[in-house]
Amino acid sequence: MIAEVIVDISNSDVDKVFDYIAPEGIAPGDRVVVPFGRQKLEGYVLRLKENPTTSHALKSIERALDDEPLILPEFIKLAEFMRGKNLRYADCFRLFIPNKLRGGRIRELYRNYLFLNGSLDFEKEYGAITQKAKARRALYKEIYEVKSVAERDVLQRYSASTVNALIESGLIYKESVAEARTPSGMKVSGDKPVLTPKQRETVDKIVSGSGTFLLHGVTGSGKTEVYMRVIEDALNKGKTAIMLVPEIALTPQMLGIFRARFGSVVSIQHSSLSDGERYDEWMKLRRGEAKVALGARSAVFAPLKDVGVVILDEEHDSSYISESNPRYFTCEVAAFRARYNGAKLILGSATPSVESYYKALKGEYTLLEMSGRVNEKELPLLETVDMREEIRRGNLGLFSTALIREIETALKEKNQVMLFLNRRGYASFLRCRNCGFVPRCPDCDVSLTYHMEDDTLRCHYCGARFRSIDACPKCGYTDLKEGKTGTEKLEEETKRLFPEARVLRMDNDTTRLRDAYTDILTKFASKEADILVGTQMIAKGHDFKDVTLVGIIDADIALYYSDYRSAERTFQLITQVAGRAGRAEKAGKVIMQTYSPNHYVYKFAKKYDYRGFYDNEIRARELTKYPPFTKIVRLLALSETESAASNAARSLAAEVVGLKNGTAGILRVQVMQSAIKRLRSYYRYQVVIWIDCDAEDEICPALYAFARKASSGKVTVFAEVNPQQML
Ligand code: ADP
Ligand code: ZN
Repeated sequence: MIAEVIVDISNSDVDKVFDYIAPEGIAPGDRVVVPFGRQKLEGYVLRLKENPTTSHALKSIERALDDEPLILPEFIKLAEFMRGKNLRYADCFRLFIPNKLRGGRIRELYRNYLFLNGSLDFEKEYGAITQKAKARRALYKEIYEVKSVAERDVLQRYSASTVNALIESGLIYKESVAEARTPSGMKVSGDKPVLTPKQRETVDKIVSGSGTFLLHGVTGSGKTEVYMRVIEDALNKGKTAIMLVPEIALTPQMLGIFRARFGSVVSIQHSSLSDGERYDEWMKLRRGEAKVALGARSAVFAPLKDVGVVILDEEHDSSYISESNPRYFTCEVAAFRARYNGAKLILGSATPSVESYYKALKGEYTLLEMSGRVNEKELPLLETVDMREEIRRGNLGLFSTALIREIETALKEKNQVMLFLNRRGYASFLRCRNCGFVPRCPDCDVSLTYHMEDDTLRCHYCGARFRSIDACPKCGYTDLKEGKTGTEKLEEETKRLFPEARVLRMDNDTTRLRDAYTDILTKFASKEADILVGTQMIAKGHDFKDVTLVGIIDADIALYYSDYRSAERTFQLITQVAGRAGRAEKAGKVIMQTYSPNHYVYKFAKKYDYRGFYDNEIRARELTKYPPFTKIVRLLALSETESAASNAARSLAAEVVGLKNGTAGILRVQVMQSAIKRLRSYYRYQVVIWIDCDAEDEICPALYAFARKASSGKVTVFAEVNPQQML
């Protein structure tokens, strides 16, 4: 037999299937070792066949790495599907299996434990240790009481020499023990509530139906409970389930709820897991010990068989689209898996993406609406504050008078406040008041953001850090003006204005450490703070019962991006943030500060009028020929030399125009600089192509081929469909 093998090489130019002679027992889905040039590399068997494609002498597969094929048949099909979407085979398989399983780095995590030597008489041995060796006596006694203890824990309290002395005298011994690395969640009750009539109806429709459902439910309508009942139904039928949430919504609360309801059949996958934990979780699913995969987008590749339901909560969230290589749309993969397994696909959101809602209205998806909150509470009152008016009245601060008043009231009543500002750092730029100089990133075409806590200037695009400046490097002037404010400044201002309040901040800068995210949320939930200041991170999914006020400091931020989705994003963000207020018994209020109060997005957001917003938006999209009426493909040329990038884009555009003349599917072609002309020292030029939706399958492969051909040593060309951000 001949095996077609995908060799796991990182060289992005190689995306070939290689033929090898397959020894007895090799099967599709096997992870194998093959000779490749002078190396031995890992690969995956795609399929077997009788005859080779070439007449060259073939080498033989050296061996299989596992007892049975690691890759399920479904994933071989999925790899073929994703390849049609411009991914390399090798990159697909890298998405399918955890890092730890690649390159032979399979290791179980072992931890050193200290055990009591039980054959000795404790009293006698204890008495024999000299009174002066206090630490040794204490540790021996401790181990006698617990019988075994992790060495790591002991070393936090005792010195290594104390431990070694006990080992040397034979009183205790050390051994490595494989550790079950189960990531922890927060404790919650697993009690099942009685479903509301609306939830009941929704669950019934899903359970008795099939295909794709769009569940449009306001925040607090109890969507999570609906998901859990549908998952329960799948499990009762002997099937498995995949539950996806945006990374940011994967809160300890969420994990706790699932653990409490489904116990150990839940496997959890999120980005802060170590490689080892990720591997453990993956194996539990692959072995069938876990039947529910809960995680961020990568959990869509959970190695489950017999999937009964795939759920994407907050389906509109941009984190479902992997923008960096390998690029994929989680929803497309989820839809593939649902089709393959005959499973149901549920897309849930309080603010569905315009594209999904359009499909639902067209009848491609079953539309399910839950328009009331479980607790029958009104949605919080949204009040817009015109910040131009504040300026006219002489208030140049971050807080409007109305917001200050509301915060004071909330604090007085011992309630909690969330302040949202989707910009981190202290000031988004510094500018010399004399010559206008603005410090910029040397590698990116953007200004640097000032961070006060370590007095640095940072690039939010490439992460570069620089020592801050006190004087303008150009003219020496020392009066530097700060540009737009970020969360760090907001925190400072909040503390200054409300000195009696305890303030926490949550953003990318405060959550770098592994558990920081959980710590901040736990503190806020247990009322160790009165005000939580934060970015996007605080907008989603959290359920704090004492939050009665949400302040949106600058609602316009997302509107400034010149992108056809900017109004949609703004609407979504406001609705999400507003949903954090008044979740439990207490009524909530939202203050939305804006400099453009007449923008239509605020008119609809204020009334939670999703449908009104949608109708308005969809008309605009139809007129301007944007998705869902077209597909937009961007070919992005990157090069360290500006002329190489721009030349590549120009010749690509010429090719696309040539193609356009031959088919009806291409509606418009544009060649231009990207919004950020230089990023991480690469110049960026792009060709943007509007294509007819029906022509996608015909046109896209041709565009992908152009992109591949145009990539040379000097220029890399990426092809993206409906890019999230046109940076
Ligand atoms: P959504 O995801 O739609 O914003 P959640 O699922 O977070 O809403 O539900 C909001 C709150 O209502 C949660 O605290 C949840 O525990 C509670 N809840 C959901 N369903 C019920 C029910 N049937 N009875 C009582 N409480 C419920
Ligand atoms: Zn930079």
